[in-house]
Parts: sequence; C-alpha cells; structure tokens
Amino acid sequence: MQRKQQQKELPQSQNIMTIILESIPKEASVTKIEYEGPRIALYTTSPRYLMENNEIISNLVNIIKKRIVVRTDESIRKSEEDAKQILTQMIPKDANLQSTFFDTATGEVSVEAKRPWLLQRNAEEFNHAEVTEKIGWKLRIRKATTNPSNTIKTINYNLKVSSAERSKQLRQIGDEIFRPKLAQKSEVSLLTLGGFGQVGRSCMLLTTGESKILIDCGINPGARSPSESYPRLDWLGFTLDDLDAVVIGHAHLDHTGFLPALCKYGYKGPIYCTEPTLPMMNLIQLDAIKVASAQGRTPIYSERDVKQIMKQTITLPYATVTDISPDIKLVLANAGHILGSALCHFHIGNGDHNFVYSGDIKYGKSILFEAASWNFPRVETLLIESTYGAKEDIQPSRQEVESSFINAVNNTLADDGKVLIPIPAVGRAQEIMMVIDHYMKSGEMVEAPVFTEGMISEASSIHEAHPEYLARELRQKILETDDNPFDSEYFTNVEHQDARDEPLRENSPCIILATSGMLEGGPVLEYFKNIAPDKKNKILFVSYQVNGTMGRRVLDGARQVSMLGKEGKIEAVNINCGIEKLDGFSGHSDYNQLISFVHRLRPKLRRVLVNHGERRKSENLATSIRRMFRVPSHYPQIQEAIKLF
Ligand SMILES: [Zn+2]
Repeated sequence: MQRKQQQKELPQSQNIMTIILESIPKEASVTKIEYEGPRIALYTTSPRYLMENNEIISNLVNIIKKRIVVRTDESIRKSEEDAKQILTQMIPKDANLQSTFFDTATGEVSVEAKRPWLLQRNAEEFNHAEVTEKIGWKLRIRKATTNPSNTIKTINYNLKVSSAERSKQLRQIGDEIFRPKLAQKSEVSLLTLGGFGQVGRSCMLLTTGESKILIDCGINPGARSPSESYPRLDWLGFTLDDLDAVVIGHAHLDHTGFLPALCKYGYKGPIYCTEPTLPMMNLIQLDAIKVASAQGRTPIYSERDVKQIMKQTITLPYATVTDISPDIKLVLANAGHILGSALCHFHIGNGDHNFVYSGDIKYGKSILFEAASWNFPRVETLLIESTYGAKEDIQPSRQEVESSFINAVNNTLADDGKVLIPIPAVGRAQEIMMVIDHYMKSGEMVEAPVFTEGMISEASSIHEAHPEYLARELRQKILETDDNPFDSEYFTNVEHQDARDEPLRENSPCIILATSGMLEGGPVLEYFKNIAPDKKNKILFVSYQVNGTMGRRVLDGARQVSMLGKEGKIEAVNINCGIEKLDGFSGHSDYNQLISFVHRLRPKLRRVLVNHGERRKSENLATSIRRMFRVPSHYPQIQEAIKLF
C-alpha cells in the first residue's frame, strides 16, 4: 500500500469532488467531503435538509456512480450523554429501548429496541429527521436480541476504541480505491491458492493490470500438515502490501480460518464482507483457537489478530455496487448457505468482464434463508462450488428429510435413548432447532428436552440481530412481533460443563445439539464419549463431513476411535450406538440444484470453473455443465493461473 500512497492529488477524485460541490445546494450546508473507505461521505451541519430532500443524493449517485453517505458534522453532535438523554425522551415507551451504541468514526448511533417497528423511518411518533437534527447523530434502528450477543458487544467496543485510527484508515483506503488507473489494457487472471479439487482452505487471487484482490482465506480442517492446511500464498511471491482488498464470502473456517494469520503477518488493508459475517467469523475464529489448544496444537494466530480483523472490516449490504479498487466493483448477493453468506460479483474494468464466485450456495429455500440469488445483469465467468457435484449427490426433498428426521429421532427417544447431533454452531443448528420446535409442537415428534452446547446460543443471538439477512417470514416475525423464533420452551442451553449431568443422566431420553459439527473438537466430544458406547443411543449427522475428520471416520463405519482423555491420555471409545446421516438439511446445493443454478445463468455464460469439491465431484460437475449447456467448463487444481479476459 505504501507504494501507491505516494501518488497524491488524484485527478479522478478531484473530478468527483468538483461535481459534488457544484451539484449540492447551499441549504445542504456541506462542510466537508471525504472518503470513507469505498464510500464518499458528505458532512453537513443541516442533516435534516438532505434527509427531507433525499432526491439530491440519489441524483448525485446517478451522476458520479459512487456510493455517497451523509454524515453529521462533528460540531453539531451532542455529547453521548446528552444525546442518550434526548433519545430516551423522544423514543416512545412502547418501543422498549434497550441500548445505544455511538460510533464516532461514522457519527451514527445504533438504537436497539425490543419493538423496532415503532421506530422505523415511516413511524408516526418518531421522525428520524427531527431526531437527527436534535442529537446531531444519524440513527440506525436495530432489534434488541433476547440475549445480548457478546461477540457483537466486543466488536462495538473495539470499533469505539479504534475510531480515530479507523477514520484515518478509511480515508487512506478511499485514496487507494480512487487512485488514477495506470494500465491501459486490463488482463484479468484468477490464481488458485486453495479449495480447488478439495473442500477446505478456499482462497484465490483475482488480478488485473491495476489490482490484486484476495477472495476467501480459509484453512483445511481435515489436513494434518501445514502445506496441506493453509492457502498457498507462498506460491505467488507478492507481499501483503500489494493487496488492494480481501473479500470474504461467508464465515465458515474453510473460508476464513487463515484470515487472522494474514493480519498477523501484516495485512493492513480492507476486508469486505456482509455485516453478520463479521461477528460470525470472529466467533468461529476464536473458537478455533480454543479447539487447537484443547488438541495440544499451537494456534496459528491469537485473539489479538481476530480483534485486528474487526478494525479492518468494511461491511457491505447485499445488492449494493461498491468500488473496491480503481477497476473493480463488488456486489454481494444472498447465497442461502449460512447467515450473511454471499455470492461475490466482480465487475471488472468498464464492463470488460464480469466474474461471479458462488462461494458455498444453497439454491433452494430453507426455513432460515431464501434460495441463492441468480439475477445478475451480466456474468461471463462463473466459479461454482461442487461439494455435492457428483451425479449421485441428489438430496431428498425437504419434506422427505424432515420425515426421516422425525423417524430417526422418535425411534431413539422411544427406546429411552439419547440423540446426539454434532452440529456446526452456525446455520445448521438454528435450522434444526426450528424444525424440532415445529414438530414437537405439532405432536409429530416425541416431546423431550433439547440441550444445546457450544457457540449455538451465541450464534442464534447473532441471527436474531440481523433479521434483514433471513428468509422473509422469519424476518417479519423478528421485526414485527415480540417473538424470538430461536427460543422455545424445549431448549436448554448448557452454559458450563458442570451442567452436563442433566443431559447425560441415565434413562432420560433427550436430544443434544453440540459443536463442532465434524467431531473435531468442542463440547460434542465429551457427549460423544458418553453416548457412543451405548447401543440405544444415536449419533445423527446433518452436515457435510470433510475427509480426514473424526466425523467422517465415524460416518464411514469406524467401530472404535482414539480420543484425548482428561489428563492428556489417549482413550479408546467404542462405537455401539446407531449412526445415521441425513442429507437434505445441508446448506449446500445438491447436484440438481447446482445444475439448475447454472441453467438460470446460462444465456450469459462464457465459461464455468468448478471448485470446492473432492476432485471427482468437481470433475463430474464440470463435465455435466460442458455437456448440458455447451459452455467451456474446467475444474482447476491448486496453483493454477487462469486467464479470464
Ligand atoms: Zn460454508
């Protein structure tokens, strides 16, 4: 970044600033125009005028084709204490205000209320322009979650203490993004660094004559040696300063597990992802430190590096065009896979090339999410995952899998057994909990206590805090009613290991959902030791088991596994209980859904690349796509350079 920062006074930016100054009326009282990362921030002493005449900003955005945000000038911002007092007076009591968070870097105040619908922009008793004028801070209305999320609290705290540093960084990032273009003609290439011909360590580099963008930065949870575990960043011979941005599609460890290490080794630039992806990945990255320590491995990064990510992340909503370098625009779109998961659409040059990276996608509706978006104005190259890319990878319909699930659970509970569901904290846990709640209430599933342990309840709070990323019905339930769909009378969260006596008590049937999903660590292991030897119990897998993980070995029929015991001794655990796997709950598309997704994009495609699958699956999907759609289709391996344009 230092090399680029020497170019001061940028023609492109001067041009933009002049246009803005000339088009904004005097009444708008603009005091300052500054970059705020990929956005242009207009500071004003009269926010009410611009809020009441919002066509001024939308016209301007149409002219300059850049994102603009209106910020209040520091001089009109009331002290936090005063502003809080005014807010408490102005917010209707019925809205049940819970907390406020003031972000000095942006001049925004997040107002968390139990009944946010009473505070929306069109609410009768709460005029946003009037409130903003009174307090000098812009409002963000949020739903207060039933249980406050510690992860979100930590992020807010870190943003607060680093606000001066962040403001400066955001200005520098803006200077970088809007620097003049150097290259005349752009050659676009994709360099594969991990997650090709395999599931794990997803990572690639998108390069043009101008820019270098790293996409995803994961680890391979099933690998045992460093050369197999981490992305092959060593292959390229570039320094981290050369990167313009890192873009993260979703929070899972195989897409984000190496990101803290990237910051540890000196990456200082922006990290783009959706708003819920930040707390989700922080939660997962911190848990990975604990899991590594518990397994006697040295973690590759520390908590400090995870905190650093919070400071460098710029969150983007779905469907918003954002400049991330002089010649690349990014749009994130719903991928239907986990909370905040995104397809990444890179618009390169002046419409020279459009590259869409699917990330992990679910092209099918679930309780939690809408099906993945497919409606891209243009796509020349598609890179698509192939976790279930083989022809025989057909998942049962939702109806079928739900009835198999009910049977699997009922049989075991009726025998006084316990059902252990190893589950990733993120996504699947919330989906399964809602299915259980629904069928116990309807009487189709035997009623029994459901225990959750691990990060599940924290992850549920993060879901509840981001209703706009959930499926429509669920969103409405959270935003427009007093209900919390993630809570139910059947559920008990096991807060501490001393509280495990109840779920493990003999002859008391129950369901236990515990992390991690692939038996690679976390509280699930303690339950596993207790539950596996008894044949009346059952272990029920509902998510993908990566090659090399203990979950995969158990699923493949191991009758005994060695595990680390209490005092670091190796213990042999016999597996006599039932083992079952149900596929239809997966957050991944099955073969048919992957093909339907490509079919939807077909008229526009010039080339399809396939990744994120065991080699045979990627090959199978690439062959099917080539034959069915007559579109060139390949399945690159790691360390390949593919010219896109
Ligand atoms: Zn994933």
